[in-house]
Amino acid sequence: MEKQVHYFIESRKELPVRMEVDVLVVGGGPSGIIAALAAAGDGLKVALIENRSFLGGNMTIGLPILGFLGQKKNQIIKGLPQKFIDRLTVLNAASEHRPCPLHMSITLVEPEAVKAVAFDMLMEKGVEILLYTSFSDVIMEGRSVKGVVIESKSGREVIFAKTIIDCTGDADVAYRSGVPCEQGNEQGGVQPPTLMFSMAGVDTEQLRMSIAEEPRTYLTDFIPNEYFGQNRQFIVVGLRSLIQKAREEGFTLPTDRTIIITGLKQGEVWINMTRVNGVDGTNPTSLTRGEFIARKQIGQIAEYLIRYVPGFDKAYLARTAPFLGIRETRRIVGAYVMTREDIINCRRFDDGIAVASYPLDIHHPVGGDCTLEWSGDCYDIPYRSLLPLHVENLIVAGRSISTTHEAMSAIRVMAPCMAMGEAAGRAAKMAVKEGCLLSEVDISRLRDELLAEGAYLRE
Ligand SMILES: Cc1cc2nc3c(=O)[nH]c(=O)nc-3n(C[C@H](O)[C@H](O)[C@H](O)COP(=O)(O)OP(=O)(O)OC[C@H]3O[C@@H](n4cnc5c(N)ncnc54)[C@H](O)[C@@H]3O)c2cc1C
Repeated sequence: MEKQVHYFIESRKELPVRMEVDVLVVGGGPSGIIAALAAAGDGLKVALIENRSFLGGNMTIGLPILGFLGQKKNQIIKGLPQKFIDRLTVLNAASEHRPCPLHMSITLVEPEAVKAVAFDMLMEKGVEILLYTSFSDVIMEGRSVKGVVIESKSGREVIFAKTIIDCTGDADVAYRSGVPCEQGNEQGGVQPPTLMFSMAGVDTEQLRMSIAEEPRTYLTDFIPNEYFGQNRQFIVVGLRSLIQKAREEGFTLPTDRTIIITGLKQGEVWINMTRVNGVDGTNPTSLTRGEFIARKQIGQIAEYLIRYVPGFDKAYLARTAPFLGIRETRRIVGAYVMTREDIINCRRFDDGIAVASYPLDIHHPVGGDCTLEWSGDCYDIPYRSLLPLHVENLIVAGRSISTTHEAMSAIRVMAPCMAMGEAAGRAAKMAVKEGCLLSEVDISRLRDELLAEGAYLRE
């Protein structure tokens, strides 16, 4: 039986206006940080709101940044995302962009430094940052978003903005403004979330050399075993037979693959192996269930690694990520919907504002496996996929742009999300300076500006 929904009519209230800005960025993850940096400057008043106590979004949960290099090993994400990595590198908090046969490239980053560097760079650019502040609602005037209602310890307040960039990952602003949104595949199934955790005391040399030297025992997915003999920083994906053996011996493991990511610190690895199918990342009841189940899974996974995987004999659980990592929620329906074919056919667009190359990478909504599909080269992300239907003054960057479920599985990794942030920020700035709508921004000038500022685009 369907649960009955009760409603309460909220009384009209006077809300204080906290600020009026030129550009408001909602969400301080990979796309939001870069969007705010790109929009700032030239006297514009730019603000960024973030509901957590720190900046960085999924860049703080122990994941490597994927996608700086393309399938031909050339660097395809440059500009502000690279400047962000450069700042981390100065602090020894980022690796080089290391080619990887499965992921194109991995760039390891230290989560704590990400939080600090994001803060520093945004402050240097004069961006007004409000942490502990949730976007809650929109203020519409016809088809235009004129501002947002925020919620914090100070209560409900208003921010008016000439343009708004939705970098929430969940298309929260777009959804509330009435932009049509989709979620999941044809059955509504979304890629499952994962609570990342790290282990310390791991002998990563023993791990990589065992994989390199004993390929029959330690078979990996897609990555040739000899790769591990040549690389000290790596991602292991596979070891399926070890999981099978552990299951036969009584282990309950949620994934069919072992996924281990080396950290930047000696003996530290991050584990991407919890998995809770059926979580709706837009529903707190479902999210709470996801956190609860994922946390329960960690014990068995850690024990499996210690018992079956080389290099883990002295390892121990070090920390869990600050939140459950959500792979997929809402996607806006925009002026153009990117498809699987666009990615597989390496499609170019006249309004391409970023270049990506990461493969289709779908963690199945049901079961414990994943499907990957490569195109052989790069594809463009068109500006129109950042522009929502029916609503003006609003642009979306990050994983919730306008795509199908399949195409989203490719563009969702962090380097392209950062590049989209740069394009959205520069477009917002142009719209404010020229007093035009985001849909009227001159694309060839936007592309010229991106190129002039060091971004990579195809002719
Ligand atoms: C388990 C897992 C593994 C992954 N593996 C990799 C990987 O190895 N490498 C890789 O590159 N990518 C990986 N991804 C994908 C990648 O992390 C995300 O797709 C990417 O971070 C999306 O960036 P974003 O800026 O759109 O959103 P997010 O990183 O989710 O950032 C959104 C930000 O907005 C804030 N926010 C949300 N709603 C509100 C609101 N209402 N008010 C205020 N603030 C709000 C959030 O707190 C957050 O800080 C993985 C994802 C997951 C979940």
